[in-house]
Amino acid sequence: MVEQRDLAQWFLRITSYAEELLADLEKLTGGWPDRVLTMQHNWIGKSVGAEIEFAVDGSDETVKVFTTRPDTVFGSTFMSIAPEHPLVEKLITGTGQEETVRAFVTRIRNMDRIERTADTLEKEGVFTGAYCINPLSGRRMPIYVANFVLAEYGTGAVMAVPAHDERDFEFARKYDLPMEVVIQPEGAELTPATMETAYTGQGTMVGSGQFSGLPNEEGKTQIAEWLEANGKGKRTVNYRLRDWNISRQRYWGAPIPVVYCEKCGIVPEKAENLPVRLPLDIKTRSDGRSPLGETPEFYECRCPACGEKARRETDTMDTFVESSWYFARYTSAGDNEAPFDAQALKYWLPVDQYIGGVEHAILHLLYARFFIKALRDCGYMNLDEPFANLLTQGMVLMDGAKMSKSKGNVVDPTEMISRYGADTVRLFCLFAAPPERDFDWSDSGIEGASRFVNRVWRLVEDLPAGMAPMAPCSSSSDDCTGAAAKDIRQKEHATVKKAGADIQNRFQFNTAISAVMELVNALYLTRDELGADEKGRRVLGSAVSSVLAMLAPITPHLCEELWEQLGHKDMLTARPWPRYDEDALLRDEVVIPVSVNGKLRSKMTVPAGTGKEELEKLALAEANVVRHTEGLTVRKVIVIPGKMVNVVAS
Ligand SMILES: [Zn+2]
Repeated sequence: MVEQRDLAQWFLRITSYAEELLADLEKLTGGWPDRVLTMQHNWIGKSVGAEIEFAVDGSDETVKVFTTRPDTVFGSTFMSIAPEHPLVEKLITGTGQEETVRAFVTRIRNMDRIERTADTLEKEGVFTGAYCINPLSGRRMPIYVANFVLAEYGTGAVMAVPAHDERDFEFARKYDLPMEVVIQPEGAELTPATMETAYTGQGTMVGSGQFSGLPNEEGKTQIAEWLEANGKGKRTVNYRLRDWNISRQRYWGAPIPVVYCEKCGIVPEKAENLPVRLPLDIKTRSDGRSPLGETPEFYECRCPACGEKARRETDTMDTFVESSWYFARYTSAGDNEAPFDAQALKYWLPVDQYIGGVEHAILHLLYARFFIKALRDCGYMNLDEPFANLLTQGMVLMDGAKMSKSKGNVVDPTEMISRYGADTVRLFCLFAAPPERDFDWSDSGIEGASRFVNRVWRLVEDLPAGMAPMAPCSSSSDDCTGAAAKDIRQKEHATVKKAGADIQNRFQFNTAISAVMELVNALYLTRDELGADEKGRRVLGSAVSSVLAMLAPITPHLCEELWEQLGHKDMLTARPWPRYDEDALLRDEVVIPVSVNGKLRSKMTVPAGTGKEELEKLALAEANVVRHTEGLTVRKVIVIPGKMVNVVAS
């Protein structure tokens, strides 16, 4: 077999989807974090450019250029064309520059390509003797042949804007060519005489006729549209996004199912021969090269079209290919005939909630979006977007910095788990911050989490004897014989409501945990009183069960153990989230703060639903209010029923 090193690389044409990938970001607004949407927006990098025709002075010829900076056309003061540009001979005829230009062109054409395209190349050029006309400023621009302009790139001609392009700046300084500032950065006043480098940033347009005063980004579109409307060029759209090269020269990764045949060329492997499997008996190489090219058992094959001897592609696919659709396969994992089942896809996709680090913002998450759109267009699914909601979780930092072994600022999770237990470490992480935020590792934070875990343990351990196992939210209002029982039952149901909403709607485990902590505190204060009779024990048992049910997603081991200790026979994890009762949320009594001239002077406990007039009367009768209004005239009493009373006196 001939040693054959294929230079062929396989690409997926993601650029065909650039516009849709950009436009559909709109559909993800609200479900995806804004910063991820912005990163994708910038990565796709849509920019409006222009193709512009510069008329050659005294001739019918035009020089065509392409630019991504139509906002700088007014600042273009000369033209640079490639030595290979087809117009060179015509331009120099009769100018007296023929010999100089031809000698230069010959010298540059003989240069080594790599040398010519190197960043370090000394910029040089010669004047052709010809001029062209700037279609916007009307300036007569000298045309230069320049060594850094390549014929195969763009149109082989570049409108030079020395004030706003580094390469043109260097060239203009060298040959003493004019420079015009047409973009002024905010708060600065650039002048060609004092500039030491080109200004390539954003700013306000100046010296640009009717476009002066516009922000330059806006000017790009407006100038491109003007050129098109006036027949001097056309608006073009460019994307920063490039096609996706999926060829990898390594062993792991899905084989690219393609065969090279001398007679038939490139032939896809037959469907019945799929999947192409990687060989298992390979010799790994010390130089890091893929062993597939050295494994004839793998690459020697028959052409699927003509049956002759052929060679299998030895590159494998980028692993991002598989991660672009694995979630679709998850819907149909048992299907051995097809990648996925249409009914299953319809039921499960899009993924309701996707979770991943922000490092995936542009590669994985963009590839997956593209892949789903491409599969849709191939007729495999009827879906525009793979992930309806995205959560990008933050990182645990150490003293504000990312943990890394080389910096030595690493907390070993195994060590923390063996010292405090997995539940404590989980509780600490979930309590420290909302999930999308980074937060600092804190020794006192984990100590606090450990104390709370122990507090919950003791709460159950020290429960009065003779308690029957109660389900969460299962005590009734009839069980509430006193204020303490009423208060605990109300708090239990309110906490279930709040914690459930915090976790389900916004993943705010931290605020859910704080609510449960408050309930635990209240239980510590009332457990002796409640434990004194059977009805009270029912209220206590129900509330303790609710505590365990709410903490189960956070500290599962602790909660299962305590659940069993309460006498339950089932697993807590198999239970649904507790159901609170709307009626139980209502309080019989409420505490109303009373202020005098904005300063809190009293708190009164009144029946819930007490009306405005009654509240005013009660507030004015409070002893401390009477003391603080003595000798004053009450001007006004502001009452918000159920909330507060403020007495205005002077
Ligand atoms: Zn063939």
